[in-house]
Amino acid sequence: MSSVIEQLTESFRRFPGIGPRQAKRFVYYLLRSHNGDLEALARQILDLKKSVNQCLECRRFSPKESGQTLCRICRDPNRDHSLLMLVEKDIDLENVERSGTFGGYYFVLGGLIPVLDKNPEQSVHARELLDLIKKRLASGLQEIIVGVSANLEGDNTIEFIKNLLASSFQLSENELKISALGRGLSTGTELEYSDPDTLKNALKHRE
Ligand SMILES: [Zn+2]
Repeated sequence: MSSVIEQLTESFRRFPGIGPRQAKRFVYYLLRSHNGDLEALARQILDLKKSVNQCLECRRFSPKESGQTLCRICRDPNRDHSLLMLVEKDIDLENVERSGTFGGYYFVLGGLIPVLDKNPEQSVHARELLDLIKKRLASGLQEIIVGVSANLEGDNTIEFIKNLLASSFQLSENELKISALGRGLSTGTELEYSDPDTLKNALKHRE
């Protein structure tokens, strides 16, 4: 049986971008912390899922509001109904939203599709995406902008989504356009870290 230190290190290692040395540093930081701080941290972790809601439409996480199943963005009737942007993760959505460059609606894919993925539908919430597109088409959706990283997985994801939509909706290019953010501009730049000017250009040069 491994020690608590080893178990906790192992837990931190599962966090995105955290290696074994960083994970161990976190554990020793906690060991040096005051009991009160540790209790507050434990409470925040326990409360996280209870106080945060996953929007039934865009799948983003936002603070729970009583009686609401949709987030503030999806409930806003004054946004551009003709545009839907697909992003990989919540942080990407937050960054685009903060930049003020996009006024349409969103969908958080929850991941990208690795090449040779055996369950691509699950990697990007395909069923929920199709449900949302069906609903948005009825209220004026004209274009889907795929805002994912310009790498192998991103390209594979764009390809999968194009095929998924072609086989699910028999729509011409005039009825529903599918575009990707300007690749030249976003190469090597994650949506998460893009500044407002870069985002604005990537949107303008979408193809
Ligand atoms: Zn939403």
